[in-house]
Amino acid sequence: MTKFKDASSWEKQRLAALKATGALEFSGESILDTIAETAGLALKAPIALIVLIDEHQAWLKAHVGVTATHIAREGAICDYTIRGSDVLVIDDVSMDSRFKDHPMALGKPHMRFYAGAPLRTKDGLNIGTVCVIDTKPRHDFTESDRLLLHKFAALAMARIESLRSIGFIDRVTGLLNHHRFLEDVESLLANRTPDAPPAFLGAIDVVSQNRYNEIAKAVGVQHAQQLVLKAKERLQEIDPSGVVLYHIDHARFATICPRLSLANKERLIRRILELFSNPIDCNGIPINLEPSIGIIDLTAADNAPQLFRALMATLDQARENGTLSAVYDPATDQSQQRSFALLSALHTALETADQLDLHYQPRVDTKSGKVLSVEALLRWTHPTLGLISPTEFISLAEKTALIGKITVWVLHKALKQVVEWRAAGHKFKVAINISAHDIERGGFVSFLKDLFETYQVPLESVELEFTENKLIQDVATVRSELLRLRKLGLDIAIDDFGTGYCNNAYLKSIPATAVKIDQSFVRELESHNKDQIIVRSMIDLAHSLGLTVVAEGVETAESFNLLKNWGVDQIQGYFIARPMDARRLSAWLEHNAQLSHS
Ligand code: C2E
Ligand code: CA
Ligand code: CA
Repeated sequence: MTKFKDASSWEKQRLAALKATGALEFSGESILDTIAETAGLALKAPIALIVLIDEHQAWLKAHVGVTATHIAREGAICDYTIRGSDVLVIDDVSMDSRFKDHPMALGKPHMRFYAGAPLRTKDGLNIGTVCVIDTKPRHDFTESDRLLLHKFAALAMARIESLRSIGFIDRVTGLLNHHRFLEDVESLLANRTPDAPPAFLGAIDVVSQNRYNEIAKAVGVQHAQQLVLKAKERLQEIDPSGVVLYHIDHARFATICPRLSLANKERLIRRILELFSNPIDCNGIPINLEPSIGIIDLTAADNAPQLFRALMATLDQARENGTLSAVYDPATDQSQQRSFALLSALHTALETADQLDLHYQPRVDTKSGKVLSVEALLRWTHPTLGLISPTEFISLAEKTALIGKITVWVLHKALKQVVEWRAAGHKFKVAINISAHDIERGGFVSFLKDLFETYQVPLESVELEFTENKLIQDVATVRSELLRLRKLGLDIAIDDFGTGYCNNAYLKSIPATAVKIDQSFVRELESHNKDQIIVRSMIDLAHSLGLTVVAEGVETAESFNLLKNWGVDQIQGYFIARPMDARRLSAWLEHNAQLSHS
């Protein structure tokens, strides 16, 4: 123990060494069982154990003759064994004041004899023991028995260490795996001094996960793995003395660059991209790999799992943005984490009754001021983050299947409201925002039809709004579905009109009934000449095609009057009313009716 400053530093290092073996994690390891069994037989003892000792417990990782999996460390004889380097032998436990009252002596298995040898790491740290126990006292334990027990301990230790390396090696590539990557990062962090040179971690996807799956499907998993092996060989062409390569997922590698400056980092990225500029032969088929690289500075987080997560996020970001490589950026990471948190919270919100609500914004006839419809706008009050803008969460949801659930939720809620309003004698329509993804998925039209039947409301009582951008992207698939909706009697508005580089031919092909001129052209209409020109030409274009023209985002009397003079049919915006919940809308409607009658 001379190496260690004091007992507590010895214990700390001992526990770290135990953790590093990873041995606490495994159980039922057959070779350790065999070693315990053989030790029992060779030393003629009915009980033989391989024990690992952590802070508070002694874990019986292999046991012959007892069934317990662990006992308290305190008072256990093995805890004494690990404090020395020799075999500890207690001929008669009942005569030893330290142990005679131990539960294993007083009760089952009635231990009377004990001999244990420490499990010792290369650094001289004892992580546990191999011990044999008898139920009768013994005075016959010879020198060669002690030696034998020592050998069994050495054997068990060798096995524990080999298990560790097996657990750290990827079977396909023979490279160290992501468990080892995490450990190595952790120890790099632990051993860093304040003046240490810069260090960073890199990760590379040789192809995207999707593409890897496609390749595996097309040529078989084994050939896909061959491809990964060849990619590994290419990566190893990089100066082998500089970096260690880890294989962390199907087509994903990582590396730790402990002493590389930023300039070298750039060079490394270029070199990797160069390496993959030629296709790799996979079973006679040349396959072009599309590498993506993510890089993170070691100082970006203070523990390995966090660094790893951030590195993976950076890599995904490089892939998503198509930039080939990306360096970790905390701001991007934070916004990604927020997105992720919002998406999972949204999932919950859809299942609970009180977080989501619809607000309604009136849309009026420009000439008469009559409310022709109200637009349903989703409101989400997150339990801790408060009100979240639909601009933020709808665009996130549109990247996932959640958008479908949202649409269904909104439709139910809106149709219930339609039923109420109809019963109260209101005739205006409700405009509902629908994502183009909804109709792409198929089955949407018949779903809608059924829903209207369930609520017993006429299809004419609803108008659907689709944003122009999305319609353009998916025009072929979407068009026929829109036609079916039109045939059912539903009105269709092209939302955010003017933002999607539309043209005459495209507009003609979409079976819409109205366009909603995007608010970006409307909001500062009175002071922007260019907007005025654009808006007027949009009005003319839409009218020439027989479409109703709606202007949204009308905030002032000036713009209202301009739009009215130019022949805009309907107006929506703060100038008329802000979106409000159903109760406040009723009050507003009443007030407005009074105004228009007075
Ligand atoms: P949108 O469909 O273009 O809705 C109009 C947005 O403009 C609403 O924002 C509305 O509150 C706001 N607005 C209306 N008049 C004015 C005005 O005079 N001035 C200004 N500055 N803003 C005005 P909101 O409610 O935040 O919704 C944002 C977007 O989120 C919507 O844009 C729509 O694309 C989406 N969204 C909202 N609810 C739903 C929904 O139920 N389903 C789907 N798929 N998308 C929705
Ligand atoms: Ca809309
Ligand atoms: Ca809009």
